[in-house]
Amino acid sequence: MTFPAHLFAGSRFAVVGLGRNGLPAARALRAMGADVTAWDDAPAARAQAAAEGLRVAMPDMAGLDALVLSPGIPHHLPAPHPIAAAARAAGVAILSDAELLYRAVRAAGSRARFAGITGTNGKSTTTALLAHIVAAAGHPVAAGGNLGTAALALPLLDHDGIYVLEMSSYMLERLAHLRFDAAAMLNLSPDHLDRHGDMMGYARAKRAIFDRQEGSDVAVIGIDDNASRAMAPGLAARVLTISAAGPADVCAPDGMLRDAEGVICDLRDAPALPGAHNAQNAAAALALALGLGIPRQAIARGIASYPGLPHRQERVGSFGGVSFVNDSKATNADSTARALACYPLVVWIAGGIAKAGGIEPLAPFFPRVAKAFLIGRDSALLAGTLARHGVPHAEVGTLERAVPAAFAAARTGAAPVVLLSPACASFDQFAGFDARGDQFRALVRTLAEAA
Ligand code: ADP
Repeated sequence: MTFPAHLFAGSRFAVVGLGRNGLPAARALRAMGADVTAWDDAPAARAQAAAEGLRVAMPDMAGLDALVLSPGIPHHLPAPHPIAAAARAAGVAILSDAELLYRAVRAAGSRARFAGITGTNGKSTTTALLAHIVAAAGHPVAAGGNLGTAALALPLLDHDGIYVLEMSSYMLERLAHLRFDAAAMLNLSPDHLDRHGDMMGYARAKRAIFDRQEGSDVAVIGIDDNASRAMAPGLAARVLTISAAGPADVCAPDGMLRDAEGVICDLRDAPALPGAHNAQNAAAALALALGLGIPRQAIARGIASYPGLPHRQERVGSFGGVSFVNDSKATNADSTARALACYPLVVWIAGGIAKAGGIEPLAPFFPRVAKAFLIGRDSALLAGTLARHGVPHAEVGTLERAVPAAFAAARTGAAPVVLLSPACASFDQFAGFDARGDQFRALVRTLAEAA
């Protein structure tokens, strides 16, 4: 269903930041009858909006109902954008597109429910997994938000529909009415502190996912780290705690995902969810699904049939006795540690633009690396670390050279898995981690045809 064309007639919005969230927001609000002024500091983005017939101008705060500010643009720290500062001075609400989606759904008369997911890591996986479970259980579902489809590009769902929204801390700071029927806080580790001031500010922003919840709603809380666990007391909603290993209301000791009523499924039957980190994600999706009233058997079926997201430990091929795993999304040592923990022995492809600390934090996993092939700008730095720890390695420069070399090493018995988990940003050689993962997949396909 599409939203009625006069839903927001008489409302005035400014949309600032015309990227992957902003441009769809401006389009959607206009299609719902609102008076929309669009702005971006980049002339190219302004030109694109103008070409679509949007009114492009510096917004005037007088008579504005709200400023829809792109998540990437600060309204507070490190320094407020001038338009955000003007909105605050004029008392104009600064909102995220998710808030406007909620208002549009309710204004259209739909009682569709909302699930929200936040945390430092695992948001996209948990969002995609819950959406898959909800769809497999036969509910209309629309998923997106911080990743995937922008909130205001999602369709209108009827009463039995469920929106599954991935919520970044930036989006959570800009809500006013959105109330989640089921909300999850997965885990919390230091991130984005430039925008939130300190861990307390970051935690405060994240905790807003539970604002406005009532006793009939469900709050899912990861208790495997202190900062996340500390959010449970005092919440109005029914709290379900989750943990990868347990004990918790929902947990997965020995890989058996369970709640107080018993085992729901064996995570070994869910090939797209390897590792303890995914046990946490699966526990969260399960708790949210239970909170939404989805039957246990339907949840179990959904978890087992979850296909996984691209670039996150994605199996992209298996031949010659070797499996190829694309974990291009791992742009730091922390994420790569999750992947290395899943395999006893790998041929590892890593490199790019190293993060602070490089791959030194991965030393406990080095015994699992039969051989490493290094690519990208900082390969010499990574090679230095591996040499100090006695890990066999070769600097090969590019992914084109790394993939066949890794296959040759693996098939001659070094290891049964070739893992691309770069622990580095990709921008020295690629447009982004997805382009890097796509190239890996293509190279593996070429090898498979030759083999
Ligand atoms: P996000 O959307 O929060 O960035 P993703 O689901 O895209 O998270 O996962 C990105 C990477 O983060 C994964 O490849 C994995 O290395 C790591 N990860 C995923 N889930 C978790 C978790 N629950 N705890 C810690 N790390 C995780």
